[in-house]
Amino acid sequence: MNLFRKIILSFILTILVSITIISITSNIMINNRFKNYLEEEQQIKFDKIYEEINNYYIDENLSLNQMNLMHYSMAEDIDLTIKDTEENIIYTTKNSPKNGMGRMHMGRNSMHANKYGLGNYVEKLYPLVYDSNAVGSLTIGYIDNSYITDGAVIFLDTMTQSLSISGLFAIAIGIIISLVLSNSLTKPLMVITETANKIRHGDLKAKSNVCTNTKEIIELSNTINYLSNTLSDQDKIRKQYASDISHELRTPLTTLKSHLEAMLDKVLEPSDEHLEILMTEINRLSKLIDDLKDSFVKEEYSMDLNLIEVDITEELMSIIKTYEPLYEEKGFSIEFNFKEDILILIDIDRFKQIMNNLLSNSLRYLNKDGKVIVDLLRNDDSILLSVSDNGIGIKANDLPYVFNRFFRVDTSRNKSTGGTGLGLPIVKSIVEAHNGSITINSEYGKGTNITIKLPITKKNHL
Ligand code: ADP
Repeated sequence: MNLFRKIILSFILTILVSITIISITSNIMINNRFKNYLEEEQQIKFDKIYEEINNYYIDENLSLNQMNLMHYSMAEDIDLTIKDTEENIIYTTKNSPKNGMGRMHMGRNSMHANKYGLGNYVEKLYPLVYDSNAVGSLTIGYIDNSYITDGAVIFLDTMTQSLSISGLFAIAIGIIISLVLSNSLTKPLMVITETANKIRHGDLKAKSNVCTNTKEIIELSNTINYLSNTLSDQDKIRKQYASDISHELRTPLTTLKSHLEAMLDKVLEPSDEHLEILMTEINRLSKLIDDLKDSFVKEEYSMDLNLIEVDITEELMSIIKTYEPLYEEKGFSIEFNFKEDILILIDIDRFKQIMNNLLSNSLRYLNKDGKVIVDLLRNDDSILLSVSDNGIGIKANDLPYVFNRFFRVDTSRNKSTGGTGLGLPIVKSIVEAHNGSITINSEYGKGTNITIKLPITKKNHL
């Protein structure tokens, strides 16, 4: 069953059940309360009649004003019988004990009896008392449900009718609300499903534009749109990646091929100089292949990290020492002032790879009077390692992409500097394989700062 039908059916079912429960309970309660009230009223009336008749009987010296009694009988639809202490009937509104004039007046009540059950004829006995002595008795005969008068019947019928009418209104309103609600829920969901299906069939440009104010549906729609954007980006990256790899591999291979062909055709001498060119291209090819493999280190090698406990300060100092001559050769300087020993668990070869990439990047992109500062900061459970330079910096619009494989800020510039666009992705992969994180800040023309956070994991914590 689809959501649309489910919502409507649930709504109607809920309304029907609630209305039935409300109708039944209110009907039963109102009927009972009302009947009790009428019954009590009838009893009060009978008690009053008894009291008045008792008083007449005494006032008239144990005789009766028969017209008065007849009046009570007619007005209240009851039979009245007065007996003396010897059980002799002194007066009765009945012609015979069970089938008298009184029954004739009671025709009105017999009619109601059709609707609320057939009433029984009952009698109620009251002692007539004078000076605390019994002087006779009064019997009031009536139909037991005669208290349900025309007015009462109309009242109860009106109650039932108004409950039924309001019930019907509630159902109609409930159906309208459920239609609007289910429409407002299912329509955007259908749009989202349609978009998801389009994405599934390869249309990565598909977007779901839903018109709703339901928070969860808006979130779902945004998630689907985010998904399609990500897939589309991934698709672009994949295509770009494939074309970059083939381009990067083709360039040194073409050079190698043309040189070797020329040598085979004896056009080119296999001299040291020419062989050196071939060697450079072969080196470039192997670096590219190594970089390619390393750029997937997180995905492929995170389980294979060779973690050993090292003093990271000492390791940093020795790496920086190897770079010092390279920097000085170009008139640049490199600074590291941290002294405290910090023992951390790390794959030291991978860590060297991180530093090689960062320090060779800075070296590559420094200007005149270039300077690199390496900083180390120790927190409770992590170290913060930062490499800052005052080099050419990176434009703000290029910055978000520097961790993408093969991204190079300026391709022609990188050709001359020998960059492959794999250095920072490799650094990021290694850092993340160590459960760390990396951030880059750069200002174009002023310099770049890269900060790496690595957890200090002790040997006994593994
Ligand atoms: P590459 O091997 O080409 O340097 P990277 O992934 O290491 O590739 O860097 C990506 C891009 O970021 C480079 O093309 C370079 O322009 C820029 N970049 C990286 N480090 C720096 C830096 N310290 N100063 C300026 N630009 C940098």
